[in-house]
Amino acid sequence: MSLTSDKISFLSRVFGTCVLGNDGINVSVCCPNPKCSTYGNSSKKKLIIRVDTDQYHCWVCDLKGRNLSYLLKRHFPRHLSEYLTRFSKKSFKPIDIVEEEILVSVPENFVLLAASLSSKDPDVRSTIRYLSNRGLTSKDLWYFRFGTCTRGRYRRRAIMPSFNADGDLNYFVARTIDDDSKMKYLNAKVPKKDVIFNEINIDWSSELTLVEGPFDLTKCNDNATCLLGSHFSEDYKLFQQIIKNSTPVLMALDPDVKLKTQEYARKLSSYGIRIRMLDLGQFSDVGEMSKLDFACALQKAKEWQPDDRLYNLFDTVKSGSIL
Ligand SMILES: [Zn+2]
Repeated sequence: MSLTSDKISFLSRVFGTCVLGNDGINVSVCCPNPKCSTYGNSSKKKLIIRVDTDQYHCWVCDLKGRNLSYLLKRHFPRHLSEYLTRFSKKSFKPIDIVEEEILVSVPENFVLLAASLSSKDPDVRSTIRYLSNRGLTSKDLWYFRFGTCTRGRYRRRAIMPSFNADGDLNYFVARTIDDDSKMKYLNAKVPKKDVIFNEINIDWSSELTLVEGPFDLTKCNDNATCLLGSHFSEDYKLFQQIIKNSTPVLMALDPDVKLKTQEYARKLSSYGIRIRMLDLGQFSDVGEMSKLDFACALQKAKEWQPDDRLYNLFDTVKSGSIL
């Protein structure tokens, strides 16, 4: 199947009937915007989608965008994962991912695991089994768009891609499923401070959970992202977005970085950010917890209060800068 007919068949699954224009490039579908006066009228197909670029525009309500990520996220969320991994223009070819091997080897044989549950390929099966042993369900496989490759250096690795707010790939981690492998993780070569992991999943207007690693995300609540390590500072894009949106934060970092966590809480709160701290109890990281463990800890999370000693210390450091 050509990419165009493949795309049109995808669009008709999402939007219902698609009418392909004489130019062979534009299709018309029903507008999914509930505020549009054509909404619910299946004879009016006023939303035009360019099949090659995915730009879209509704001639009635002026809904438009340069690709379908946001539209799908908003109105057809269950089709988003398939779109991002199969069609999103820049997925797997972002300009800022410089390592050539990544550009070449990931796109060629990336397999979306949630769509391959009945695959006969032994490596694909092992990767699915590995994730399921870590407590992931098929819903998680869809939600996090887990994949693997059947050839090359990403074979027998669980790949977790990350997409920015526009639906472009901005990072990925590829974890080996074999304990004896020398390299546990192969990650995209992008500075971590420039990455907001799966920004596409984030609602900046409600409390955002911060964990250390991408796999921790599979155990916590949905509105969450990870630091890709334990470092975090003002020059991180994530830090800046939190400040810009005044997003309340739930800190769920590992207990072995308690001091750092305090430091981050102090820094964020100096910008007026509300912080809650999650106590991991006997667990050494979120990845070890079950979703239920996390949900219980989440309910008990307490508002962060600068203790006097730390607060004074902080005042000394900050005087003359922001406050
Ligand atoms: Zn419309």
